[in-house]
Amino acid sequence: MYVKGETAGLVLSVRPFKEKDQLVQLFTEKYGKRMILVKRAAMPNFRYKKALQCPGGGIFYLSLQEEGLGFIQGVKEEFSYPYLQTDPLAYTYAQYILELAQYALEDGEPDAIFYGYIRQGLVYLEEKKPPAVIAAIMALQILPKFGVDIRFDHCQLCEETRWDIPYDYSSFYHGVICERHFATIENRWNLPPQVLFYLRKFQDFNFFQIGKIDIHPQWIRQIWQVIDSIYEEELGIRPASRRFLWKMEQSEAKIQALWERNVDKRKDLS
Ligand SMILES: [Zn+2]
Repeated sequence: MYVKGETAGLVLSVRPFKEKDQLVQLFTEKYGKRMILVKRAAMPNFRYKKALQCPGGGIFYLSLQEEGLGFIQGVKEEFSYPYLQTDPLAYTYAQYILELAQYALEDGEPDAIFYGYIRQGLVYLEEKKPPAVIAAIMALQILPKFGVDIRFDHCQLCEETRWDIPYDYSSFYHGVICERHFATIENRWNLPPQVLFYLRKFQDFNFFQIGKIDIHPQWIRQIWQVIDSIYEEELGIRPASRRFLWKMEQSEAKIQALWERNVDKRKDLS
């Protein structure tokens, strides 16, 4: 089957091909994930550069075949993310979200709702919402797309849903357990109640209605430890961007520690 059509799309990845061309993987609203060969895309004066960078996107006019490479006929509108192109942290979290989308999607399988969801995530990052929080919410909410059923809203052993009693997370039980079982369960995470509160909240709230979010850095770090363990251990997914984010976080923590040590020294001197 050969299709020619107009569709909105987001760039999932770009790689060089031959000398002047590029292979661009698009997540299109109508036709799902598609690999597009873009001729002369590496030339300096290429006219669709903005739409075909990562992160980027637009309304494309494409010609597609059932299998194999598609081609781009034209770009009607460009989505550009100028802030994401200049802020390293927001950019890397955007890459992380796009990498997860790449893993979650089958080639050529349309999913307009998931498309709208990923697009909204990029819009939030471009609006300078805290990237570690937005990406954490997304990583938790798209788990069902990977067939993973991990719940933070009730005890995995007795179905308890009251939240005025202590809970903890257990990788073994794929979710939270209430205090009744604490004595018998080894290797629970000892997470503080705030972290468990946000894990539950993140999983369930309406992604399209996010207002102002302000979360203590320590809690968000622990939320990410849970997310990383789910993706690595349950799904075997280690996005390259996540490894880069770990390095950024480690150097940030080192800078913070140095700064605090210096503050103490300054205090000693005065
Ligand atoms: Zn229980």
